Amino acid sequence: SKCTQNETFQQGRLSDYGNVELSPAAGVLNYGQGLFEGTKAFRGEDGRIFLFRPDQNAIRMQIGAERMCMQSPSVQQFVDAVKQTAMANKRWIPPPGKGSLYIRPLLIGTGPILGLSPSPEYTFLVYASPVGNYFKEGVAPLNLYVDDQFHRATRGGAGGVKSITNYAPVLKAISRAKGEGFSDVIYLDSVHKKYVEEASSCNIFLVKGNVISTPATVGTILEGITRKSIIDIARDIGYKVEERSVSIDELMEADEVFTTGTAVSVATVGSITYNGRRVDYKTGDELVGQKLYKTLVGIQNGTIEDKYNWVVQI
Ligand code: PMP
Repeated sequence: SKCTQNETFQQGRLSDYGNVELSPAAGVLNYGQGLFEGTKAFRGEDGRIFLFRPDQNAIRMQIGAERMCMQSPSVQQFVDAVKQTAMANKRWIPPPGKGSLYIRPLLIGTGPILGLSPSPEYTFLVYASPVGNYFKEGVAPLNLYVDDQFHRATRGGAGGVKSITNYAPVLKAISRAKGEGFSDVIYLDSVHKKYVEEASSCNIFLVKGNVISTPATVGTILEGITRKSIIDIARDIGYKVEERSVSIDELMEADEVFTTGTAVSVATVGSITYNGRRVDYKTGDELVGQKLYKTLVGIQNGTIEDKYNWVVQI
């Protein structure tokens, strides 16, 4: 069957949280045709409810669908479904500063397919759950472990998109690192085992002097929406931001390191351990990452003017 099929998605409906029924031959169960997204609904000080750049999640899902030979909903259908899910779960959205409603859009191949080819049918669904802080340390600095044995993505793979197939292979690395007391894993590129890619579910930035750098997204790194937003904010407040190759040695010598993602927002990195060596970084309120964190959160909860038009009130 064809790879990119442009069928329109039938209108869905809201229903109570529950199980989904699938054919044992569903494309997602057999060949991993599944993409997910993650976004949050926030409650502002005045009680209004906001989403942050949901169109960017929709576009990322479309790019992912193209890569994984799947059909995807339109941007409008995606954003409408996210809005409806947020509104239907309004009472679960925590007060400002106390967390948010995490929203999980999921696109899966639900049509039966026995031979290795694209599923003949796709289902798009959205579910949600209230969340507090992602890391159990809360806002405490993260202690990251550089794993040069396991890779998140290889060149030519699906690392640049939010395919479910990228996540199962890192569970072992994460569980090993967490078992040794680390917060998360940093992955290196699989060709040279030298360049920094990202953490399990967030992008990485370093600060050296007045320059902020982050690994360029070259197909193996997920283009985080938080990453992109932080680059814009940082440039607007006068920092030079470079997207380029960053070696692990350079990261270890940085003045400051932080990670970005929907789940973590902007999180300070306290230490990185690589090859038996641990470096500790500056932490505290004066960090560049903390300044960017406060700006991003302020825009998201409506206390800082959103000159970018990123926030969508629902
Ligand atoms: N990298 C990976 C591997 C991720 O799963 C995520 C979470 N979506 C991110 C980075 C951060 O992306 P975003 O800022 O869009 O949440």
